[in-house]
Amino acid sequence: MINKPRLQGKVALITGGASGIGEAAARLFLKHGARIVIADVQDELGRQVVASCNSPNISYIHCDVRDEGQVAQAVAHALVEYEGLDVLFSNAGVMGSMTSLLDMDLEAFDTTMAINVRGVAATIKHAAQAMVARKVHGSIICTASVAATLAGPGPHGYTVSKHAMLGLMKTACYELGAHGIRVNCVSPFGVGTPLTCKAYGQEPSQVEADFCEMANLKGVVLKPSHVVEAALFLASDESAYVSGQNLGVDGGFSVVSHSYT
Ligand code: NAD
Repeated sequence: MINKPRLQGKVALITGGASGIGEAAARLFLKHGARIVIADVQDELGRQVVASCNSPNISYIHCDVRDEGQVAQAVAHALVEYEGLDVLFSNAGVMGSMTSLLDMDLEAFDTTMAINVRGVAATIKHAAQAMVARKVHGSIICTASVAATLAGPGPHGYTVSKHAMLGLMKTACYELGAHGIRVNCVSPFGVGTPLTCKAYGQEPSQVEADFCEMANLKGVVLKPSHVVEAALFLASDESAYVSGQNLGVDGGFSVVSHSYT
């Protein structure tokens, strides 16, 4: 039971909301009084999430963030279904496979950039257009990563894309501040989701155990709930003067480490 809903009356669009961190955000934001549109490419999973919430305040729309027309439709869906848009959680992302730079798959590199950078840019563009037109002082949150500030052994497109995301967040913060719109990132460390499990070929518990061992903060296993509590803060009016920030949810890893994994 939530004593004080922190997103009461707000409408949130969550990309990549069918799984992992995005799904956890959808459930948490809903509990906090928001009306939610999940936008994803995994239609069956997305619809299952909606059905399991048993609420008229959450809906699903198919949206491949690489397709600008589909991004525009997802924003329009929020405006028609819930009559507004206050929060964009631009969270959809892919990691790619672990290969040496010398064997880099450039097709996979392009795909990663198309989803993690161009896709995020498209969601910011269309969500911000809707917010500006309605004079909404909205909040935009992008899911970056420790890979946004540190290098690692691969996949290289992922590291490049997350570094680019910080640039995108900063440029959006710069321009959209004039409209009262805030733009921030959350940067998780290692959570056992399909994205990391696929990349490392491990079960969620093993991914989390491995990252827990590397972590600076000992004895705490990072879970999606830790990440989405940070996103909730950035989405809510409690962070009304926070913009242009990259909030690490990494137990201090990015401060004490020179590379990830
Ligand atoms: P996940 O695989 O559970 O979720 C990613 C979601 O994005 C999936 O539902 C997927 O279908 C969706 N998606 C992929 N391509 C898409 C596209 N073209 N259009 C729309 N949706 C698409 O993984 P996750 O770990 O929850 O990842 C969420 C975000 O968190 C990603 O941006 C990822 O880079 C970031 N992140 C995750 C970790 C981690 O440890 N899990 C760490 C740092 C950053």
